[in-house]
Amino acid sequence: MSVVAPAHSEPLIRNDETMRYRPFGKTGWQVSALSFGCMRLQDNPELNKELVSTAIDLGVNYFESTRYYLGGTCQHRTAPGLEGKTAGVIVSGKERINPDQTAYLFRKEIERQLEILGLSHFKFFQVGWFHWGNMPHLLKQGGVLDAIRQAKAEGLIQCVGFTGHDSPENFIKCIETGLFDSLTVPYNLINRSYEPTIKRAGQLGVGVVAMCPVAGGVLACESSRLKEALQMDLPTTEMALRFVLSNPDVSTACSGMNTMEQLQQNVRTAREFDPAEQGDFGAMCEGLDRLRAELGDKFCTGCRYCMPCPEGVDIPRHMDLYRQWKAFGLEESVKQNVQRMPEAKSLTRCTKCGACIQACPNDLQVPDMLDELSRLAGL
Ligand code: SF4
Ligand code: SF4
Repeated sequence: MSVVAPAHSEPLIRNDETMRYRPFGKTGWQVSALSFGCMRLQDNPELNKELVSTAIDLGVNYFESTRYYLGGTCQHRTAPGLEGKTAGVIVSGKERINPDQTAYLFRKEIERQLEILGLSHFKFFQVGWFHWGNMPHLLKQGGVLDAIRQAKAEGLIQCVGFTGHDSPENFIKCIETGLFDSLTVPYNLINRSYEPTIKRAGQLGVGVVAMCPVAGGVLACESSRLKEALQMDLPTTEMALRFVLSNPDVSTACSGMNTMEQLQQNVRTAREFDPAEQGDFGAMCEGLDRLRAELGDKFCTGCRYCMPCPEGVDIPRHMDLYRQWKAFGLEESVKQNVQRMPEAKSLTRCTKCGACIQACPNDLQVPDMLDELSRLAGL
Protein backbone atom coordinates (compact mmCIF):
# COMPACT_ATOMS: atom_id res chain seq x y z
CA MET A 1 0.00 0.00 0.00
CA SER A 2 1.34 3.44 -0.84
CA VAL A 3 1.71 5.82 2.04
CA VAL A 4 0.08 9.20 1.51
CA ALA A 5 1.25 12.05 3.73
CA PRO A 6 -1.78 12.91 5.87
CA ALA A 7 -3.06 16.38 6.60
CA HIS A 8 -2.43 16.07 10.33
CA SER A 9 -2.87 19.67 11.24
CA GLU A 10 -6.44 20.00 10.01
CA PRO A 11 -8.98 20.81 12.74
CA LEU A 12 -12.00 18.59 13.21
CA ILE A 13 -15.19 19.72 11.51
CA ARG A 14 -17.82 21.44 13.62
CA ASN A 15 -21.37 22.66 13.17
CA ASP A 16 -22.26 24.77 16.18
CA GLU A 17 -25.85 25.17 15.07
CA THR A 18 -26.58 21.49 15.49
CA MET A 19 -23.91 20.03 17.79
CA ARG A 20 -21.85 20.70 20.90
CA TYR A 21 -18.16 19.87 21.23
CA ARG A 22 -15.94 18.69 24.06
CA PRO A 23 -12.18 18.34 24.53
CA PHE A 24 -10.88 14.91 23.53
CA GLY A 25 -8.31 14.28 26.27
CA LYS A 26 -4.99 15.90 25.50
CA THR A 27 -5.26 15.50 21.74
CA GLY A 28 -6.22 19.15 21.28
CA TRP A 29 -9.27 18.05 19.28
CA GLN A 30 -12.83 19.13 19.98
CA VAL A 31 -14.92 16.04 19.47
CA SER A 32 -18.69 16.05 18.95
CA ALA A 33 -20.69 15.29 22.12
CA LEU A 34 -22.47 12.59 20.12
CA SER A 35 -20.39 10.11 18.18
CA PHE A 36 -21.57 7.45 15.78
CA GLY A 37 -21.13 3.75 16.50
CA CYS A 38 -21.19 2.03 13.11
CA MET A 39 -21.70 -1.48 14.49
CA ARG A 40 -25.48 -1.28 14.22
CA LEU A 41 -25.79 -0.20 10.60
CA GLN A 42 -28.27 -2.37 8.76
CA ASP A 43 -27.90 -4.22 5.47
CA ASN A 44 -29.29 -1.20 3.64
CA PRO A 45 -26.62 0.63 1.58
CA GLU A 46 -28.78 3.65 0.72
CA LEU A 47 -29.88 4.25 4.28
CA ASN A 48 -26.34 3.73 5.64
CA LYS A 49 -24.90 6.22 3.19
CA GLU A 50 -27.53 8.79 4.10
CA LEU A 51 -27.09 8.22 7.83
CA VAL A 52 -23.31 8.61 7.87
CA SER A 53 -23.34 11.53 5.47
CA THR A 54 -26.14 13.32 7.34
CA ALA A 55 -24.38 12.77 10.66
CA ILE A 56 -21.31 14.57 9.30
CA ASP A 57 -23.50 17.40 7.99
CA LEU A 58 -24.99 17.69 11.48
CA GLY A 59 -21.53 18.06 12.98
CA VAL A 60 -20.79 14.52 14.19
CA ASN A 61 -17.02 14.19 13.83
CA TYR A 62 -16.25 10.81 15.44
CA PHE A 63 -17.22 7.44 13.91
CA GLU A 64 -16.30 4.18 15.58
CA SER A 65 -15.84 1.16 13.34
CA THR A 66 -14.04 -2.11 12.97
CA ARG A 67 -13.85 -4.62 10.19
CA TYR A 68 -15.07 -7.49 12.36
CA TYR A 69 -18.55 -6.28 13.28
CA LEU A 70 -21.66 -7.20 11.32
CA GLY A 71 -20.13 -10.34 9.91
CA GLY A 72 -17.13 -8.42 8.58
CA THR A 73 -19.21 -5.75 6.78
CA CYS A 74 -19.22 -2.89 9.31
CA GLN A 75 -16.63 -0.77 7.52
CA HIS A 76 -18.03 -1.63 4.09
CA ARG A 77 -21.38 -0.31 5.29
CA THR A 78 -19.75 2.83 6.71
CA ALA A 79 -17.48 3.80 3.80
CA PRO A 80 -19.97 5.09 1.17
CA GLY A 81 -21.33 7.78 3.52
CA LEU A 82 -17.81 9.03 4.18
CA GLU A 83 -16.96 9.59 0.53
CA GLY A 84 -15.61 13.10 0.02
CA LYS A 85 -16.29 14.02 3.65
CA THR A 86 -13.43 12.56 5.66
CA ALA A 87 -11.41 15.77 6.10
CA GLY A 88 -11.68 16.78 9.76
CA VAL A 89 -13.56 13.63 10.73
CA ILE A 90 -12.25 10.89 13.03
CA VAL A 91 -13.05 7.43 11.76
CA SER A 92 -11.51 5.03 14.21
CA GLY A 93 -10.49 1.54 13.17
CA LYS A 94 -9.80 -1.33 15.53
CA GLU A 95 -7.73 -4.49 15.60
CA ARG A 96 -7.59 -7.21 18.22
CA ILE A 97 -4.64 -8.12 20.41
CA ASN A 98 -3.89 -11.65 21.55
CA PRO A 99 -0.83 -13.89 22.10
CA ASP A 100 -0.53 -14.61 18.37
CA GLN A 101 -0.67 -10.99 17.28
CA THR A 102 2.48 -9.63 15.67
CA ALA A 103 3.63 -6.24 14.44
CA TYR A 104 3.43 -7.52 10.87
CA LEU A 105 -0.17 -8.76 11.18
CA PHE A 106 -1.30 -5.67 13.07
CA ARG A 107 0.18 -3.42 10.40
CA LYS A 108 -1.50 -5.42 7.63
CA GLU A 109 -4.82 -4.98 9.38
CA ILE A 110 -4.35 -1.20 9.69
CA GLU A 111 -3.72 -1.04 5.94
CA ARG A 112 -6.66 -3.30 5.16
CA GLN A 113 -9.09 -1.19 7.20
CA LEU A 114 -7.79 2.04 5.66
CA GLU A 115 -8.42 0.61 2.24
CA ILE A 116 -11.98 -0.51 3.02
CA LEU A 117 -12.84 2.87 4.51
CA GLY A 118 -11.14 4.84 1.73
CA LEU A 119 -8.93 6.75 4.16
CA SER A 120 -5.34 7.95 3.80
CA HIS A 121 -4.73 7.62 7.56
CA PHE A 122 -6.47 6.97 10.84
CA LYS A 123 -6.74 9.92 13.16
CA PHE A 124 -7.52 7.28 15.77
CA PHE A 125 -6.82 3.59 15.84
CA GLN A 126 -7.90 1.32 18.68
CA VAL A 127 -6.37 -1.75 20.22
CA GLY A 128 -9.48 -3.86 20.57
CA TRP A 129 -10.52 -6.59 22.99
CA PHE A 130 -7.79 -5.27 25.26
CA HIS A 131 -7.19 -6.22 28.90
CA TRP A 132 -4.33 -5.89 31.35
CA GLY A 133 -3.24 -9.47 30.72
CA ASN A 134 -2.56 -8.52 27.10
CA MET A 135 0.08 -5.97 28.06
CA PRO A 136 2.99 -8.39 27.32
CA HIS A 137 1.64 -8.92 23.79
CA LEU A 138 1.48 -5.17 23.34
CA LEU A 139 5.00 -4.57 24.61
CA LYS A 140 6.88 -7.60 23.29
CA GLN A 141 9.53 -7.13 20.62
CA GLY A 142 7.83 -7.44 17.25
CA GLY A 143 4.46 -6.90 18.97
CA VAL A 144 1.60 -4.46 18.62
CA LEU A 145 3.36 -1.43 20.06
CA ASP A 146 6.10 -1.77 17.46
CA ALA A 147 3.46 -1.72 14.73
CA ILE A 148 1.79 1.33 16.27
CA ARG A 149 5.07 3.24 16.55
CA GLN A 150 5.99 2.47 12.96
CA ALA A 151 2.53 3.43 11.68
CA LYS A 152 2.67 6.68 13.64
CA ALA A 153 6.11 7.49 12.25
CA GLU A 154 4.77 6.98 8.72
CA GLY A 155 1.66 9.05 9.39
CA LEU A 156 -0.74 6.13 9.01
CA ILE A 157 -2.19 6.68 12.45
CA GLN A 158 -2.15 9.71 14.71
CA CYS A 159 -3.58 8.70 18.06
CA VAL A 160 -4.17 5.38 19.77
CA GLY A 161 -6.89 4.22 22.10
CA PHE A 162 -8.07 0.91 23.45
CA THR A 163 -11.36 -0.77 24.12
CA GLY A 164 -12.36 -3.88 26.02
CA HIS A 165 -14.13 -5.26 29.07
CA ASP A 166 -11.48 -5.73 31.76
CA SER A 167 -12.08 -4.67 35.37
CA PRO A 168 -12.21 -0.92 36.13
CA GLU A 169 -9.07 -1.30 38.28
CA ASN A 170 -7.12 -2.98 35.48
CA PHE A 171 -8.20 -0.34 32.99
CA ILE A 172 -6.90 2.32 35.37
CA LYS A 173 -3.53 0.53 35.27
CA CYS A 174 -3.73 0.49 31.45
CA ILE A 175 -4.27 4.24 31.14
CA GLU A 176 -1.63 4.97 33.77
CA THR A 177 0.99 3.47 31.43
CA GLY A 178 0.70 6.66 29.39
CA LEU A 179 0.56 4.62 26.19
CA PHE A 180 -3.00 5.57 25.22
CA ASP A 181 -4.75 8.76 24.14
CA SER A 182 -8.24 7.41 24.80
CA LEU A 183 -10.27 4.49 26.05
CA THR A 184 -13.67 3.27 24.97
CA VAL A 185 -15.83 1.64 27.66
CA PRO A 186 -19.53 0.97 28.23
CA TYR A 187 -21.14 3.62 30.42
CA ASN A 188 -24.77 4.41 31.06
CA LEU A 189 -27.46 4.90 33.69
CA ILE A 190 -27.61 1.23 34.61
CA ASN A 191 -23.95 0.36 34.14
CA ARG A 192 -21.67 2.77 35.95
CA SER A 193 -18.97 0.25 36.78
CA TYR A 194 -16.30 2.18 34.82
CA GLU A 195 -17.02 5.48 36.58
CA PRO A 196 -13.76 5.35 38.62
CA THR A 197 -11.80 4.59 35.43
CA ILE A 198 -13.46 7.49 33.64
CA LYS A 199 -12.63 9.80 36.52
CA ARG A 200 -8.98 8.71 36.43
CA ALA A 201 -8.93 9.23 32.67
CA GLY A 202 -10.12 12.78 33.24
CA GLN A 203 -7.27 13.38 35.71
CA LEU A 204 -4.72 11.98 33.25
CA GLY A 205 -6.07 13.80 30.19
CA VAL A 206 -7.06 10.56 28.47
CA GLY A 207 -10.09 10.89 26.19
CA VAL A 208 -13.17 8.83 27.05
CA VAL A 209 -15.54 7.41 24.45
CA ALA A 210 -18.60 6.22 26.36
CA MET A 211 -20.19 3.39 24.42
CA CYS A 212 -23.67 1.93 24.91
CA PRO A 213 -25.11 5.19 26.36
CA VAL A 214 -28.60 3.70 26.01
CA ALA A 215 -27.42 0.24 27.11
CA GLY A 216 -27.85 -1.40 23.73
CA GLY A 217 -31.51 -0.38 23.54
CA VAL A 218 -32.44 -1.45 27.09
CA LEU A 219 -33.03 2.19 27.95
CA ALA A 220 -35.45 2.61 25.09
CA CYS A 221 -38.34 1.73 27.40
CA GLU A 222 -39.99 4.14 29.80
CA SER A 223 -39.25 4.11 33.52
CA SER A 224 -41.04 6.28 36.05
CA ARG A 225 -38.46 5.25 38.66
CA LEU A 226 -35.65 6.70 36.57
CA LYS A 227 -37.61 9.90 35.91
CA GLU A 228 -38.11 10.34 39.62
CA ALA A 229 -34.48 9.54 40.50
CA LEU A 230 -33.08 11.92 37.90
CA GLN A 231 -35.75 14.58 38.37
CA MET A 232 -36.39 14.70 34.62
CA ASP A 233 -39.66 14.16 32.80
CA LEU A 234 -38.14 13.05 29.50
CA PRO A 235 -38.04 9.89 27.37
CA THR A 236 -35.59 7.41 28.88
CA THR A 237 -33.24 7.51 25.89
CA GLU A 238 -32.92 11.28 26.27
CA MET A 239 -32.31 11.04 30.02
CA ALA A 240 -29.70 8.35 29.31
CA LEU A 241 -27.76 10.56 26.91
CA ARG A 242 -28.02 13.55 29.22
CA PHE A 243 -26.67 11.48 32.11
CA VAL A 244 -23.60 10.34 30.16
CA LEU A 245 -22.89 13.85 28.90
CA SER A 246 -23.25 15.25 32.42
CA ASN A 247 -20.09 13.42 33.40
CA PRO A 248 -17.40 16.04 32.74
CA ASP A 249 -14.77 13.37 32.11
CA VAL A 250 -16.67 11.81 29.18
CA SER A 251 -15.44 13.16 25.85
CA THR A 252 -18.19 11.77 23.67
CA ALA A 253 -21.22 9.48 23.91
CA CYS A 254 -20.95 6.88 21.17
CA SER A 255 -24.37 5.61 20.16
CA GLY A 256 -24.93 2.78 17.69
CA MET A 257 -27.56 4.19 15.33
CA ASN A 258 -29.35 2.77 12.32
CA THR A 259 -32.37 4.97 11.70
CA MET A 260 -32.66 8.63 10.75
CA GLU A 261 -35.07 9.13 13.63
CA GLN A 262 -32.49 7.90 16.19
CA LEU A 263 -29.80 10.08 14.65
CA GLN A 264 -31.96 13.20 14.65
CA GLN A 265 -33.22 12.63 18.17
CA ASN A 266 -29.72 12.03 19.54
CA VAL A 267 -28.30 15.04 17.71
CA ARG A 268 -31.15 17.17 19.09
CA THR A 269 -30.43 15.97 22.64
CA ALA A 270 -26.68 16.56 22.27
CA ARG A 271 -27.32 20.08 20.97
CA GLU A 272 -30.07 21.12 23.38
CA PHE A 273 -28.49 19.73 26.51
CA ASP A 274 -26.06 22.16 28.10
CA PRO A 275 -24.21 20.23 30.82
CA ALA A 276 -23.02 23.43 32.48
CA GLU A 277 -26.59 24.69 32.90
CA GLN A 278 -28.67 21.54 33.16
CA GLY A 279 -26.31 18.73 34.09
CA ASP A 280 -25.99 18.27 37.84
CA PHE A 281 -23.94 15.09 37.61
CA GLY A 282 -23.58 14.69 41.39
CA ALA A 283 -27.36 14.92 41.95
CA MET A 284 -28.02 12.41 39.16
CA CYS A 285 -25.55 9.93 40.67
CA GLU A 286 -27.16 10.35 44.08
CA GLY A 287 -30.57 9.61 42.58
CA LEU A 288 -29.28 6.48 40.89
CA ASP A 289 -27.44 5.39 44.04
CA ARG A 290 -30.72 5.71 45.97
CA LEU A 291 -32.46 3.38 43.51
CA ARG A 292 -29.75 0.79 43.89
CA ALA A 293 -29.71 1.16 47.67
CA GLU A 294 -33.36 0.12 47.74
CA LEU A 295 -32.17 -3.35 46.78
CA GLY A 296 -30.03 -3.35 49.93
CA ASP A 297 -27.01 -5.63 49.77
CA LYS A 298 -29.06 -8.27 47.97
CA PHE A 299 -27.83 -7.63 44.50
CA CYS A 300 -25.60 -9.53 42.14
CA THR A 301 -22.05 -8.24 41.83
CA GLY A 302 -21.38 -10.37 38.77
CA CYS A 303 -18.62 -12.34 40.49
CA ARG A 304 -19.71 -15.52 38.68
CA TYR A 305 -18.90 -17.78 41.65
CA CYS A 306 -22.23 -19.50 40.92
CA MET A 307 -21.14 -20.50 37.44
CA PRO A 308 -21.32 -22.81 35.71
CA CYS A 309 -24.86 -23.74 36.58
CA PRO A 310 -25.20 -27.53 36.13
CA GLU A 311 -28.22 -26.93 33.90
CA GLY A 312 -26.62 -24.16 31.85
CA VAL A 313 -28.68 -21.23 33.18
CA ASP A 314 -26.85 -17.93 32.63
CA ILE A 315 -27.30 -16.82 36.23
CA PRO A 316 -25.36 -13.49 36.18
CA ARG A 317 -27.23 -12.36 33.07
CA HIS A 318 -30.58 -13.13 34.67
CA MET A 319 -29.53 -11.43 37.89
CA ASP A 320 -28.56 -8.35 35.91
CA LEU A 321 -32.00 -8.32 34.31
CA TYR A 322 -33.56 -8.72 37.75
CA ARG A 323 -31.63 -5.62 38.89
CA GLN A 324 -32.71 -3.63 35.83
CA TRP A 325 -36.30 -4.48 36.66
CA LYS A 326 -36.32 -3.97 40.42
CA ALA A 327 -33.92 -1.05 40.70
CA PHE A 328 -34.63 0.89 37.53
CA GLY A 329 -38.19 -0.14 36.65
CA LEU A 330 -37.27 -1.25 33.13
CA GLU A 331 -40.03 -3.86 33.14
CA GLU A 332 -40.82 -4.07 29.45
CA SER A 333 -37.25 -4.47 28.19
CA VAL A 334 -36.45 -7.00 30.95
CA LYS A 335 -39.52 -9.02 29.99
CA GLN A 336 -38.43 -9.09 26.35
CA ASN A 337 -34.84 -10.01 27.20
CA VAL A 338 -35.92 -12.91 29.41
CA GLN A 339 -38.20 -14.15 26.65
CA ARG A 340 -35.42 -13.89 24.05
CA MET A 341 -32.78 -15.70 26.12
CA PRO A 342 -31.37 -18.66 24.15
CA GLU A 343 -32.93 -21.92 25.35
CA ALA A 344 -29.54 -23.30 26.43
CA LYS A 345 -29.12 -20.43 28.92
CA SER A 346 -32.74 -19.88 29.87
CA LEU A 347 -34.15 -19.79 33.40
CA THR A 348 -36.64 -22.44 32.27
CA ARG A 349 -33.83 -24.99 32.71
CA CYS A 350 -33.50 -24.35 36.45
CA THR A 351 -34.20 -27.45 38.58
CA LYS A 352 -33.86 -25.55 41.88
CA CYS A 353 -30.87 -27.68 42.90
CA GLY A 354 -29.66 -24.81 45.12
CA ALA A 355 -25.98 -25.01 44.11
CA CYS A 356 -25.96 -21.31 43.19
CA ILE A 357 -27.29 -20.31 46.63
CA GLN A 358 -24.43 -22.18 48.28
CA ALA A 359 -21.89 -20.50 46.00
CA CYS A 360 -23.22 -16.94 46.22
CA PRO A 361 -21.30 -14.67 48.63
CA ASN A 362 -24.29 -12.32 48.70
CA ASP A 363 -26.75 -15.01 49.76
CA LEU A 364 -28.96 -14.37 46.77
CA GLN A 365 -31.95 -16.68 46.60
CA VAL A 366 -31.37 -17.17 42.90
CA PRO A 367 -34.13 -19.76 42.20
CA ASP A 368 -36.77 -17.51 43.80
CA MET A 369 -35.56 -14.54 41.78
CA LEU A 370 -35.63 -16.62 38.60
CA ASP A 371 -39.22 -17.55 39.50
CA GLU A 372 -40.13 -13.88 39.70
CA LEU A 373 -38.51 -13.21 36.34
CA SER A 374 -40.30 -16.21 34.89
CA ARG A 375 -43.69 -14.88 36.03
CA LEU A 376 -42.87 -11.41 34.63
CA ALA A 377 -42.02 -12.92 31.24
CA GLY A 378 -45.00 -15.30 31.30
CA LEU A 379 -42.79 -18.38 30.85
S1 SF4 B 1 -30.77 -23.61 41.40
FE1 SF4 B 1 -31.19 -23.43 39.22
S2 SF4 B 1 -29.90 -21.74 38.58
FE2 SF4 B 1 -29.13 -22.37 40.55
S3 SF4 B 1 -27.48 -23.81 40.05
FE3 SF4 B 1 -29.35 -25.03 40.35
S4 SF4 B 1 -30.23 -25.23 38.31
FE4 SF4 B 1 -28.71 -23.58 38.21
S1 SF4 C 1 -22.47 -15.84 42.85
FE1 SF4 C 1 -24.15 -14.43 43.41
S2 SF4 C 1 -23.27 -12.38 43.17
FE2 SF4 C 1 -21.89 -13.80 42.10
S3 SF4 C 1 -22.64 -13.80 39.96
FE3 SF4 C 1 -23.67 -15.49 41.00
S4 SF4 C 1 -25.60 -14.61 41.72
FE4 SF4 C 1 -24.26 -12.91 41.22
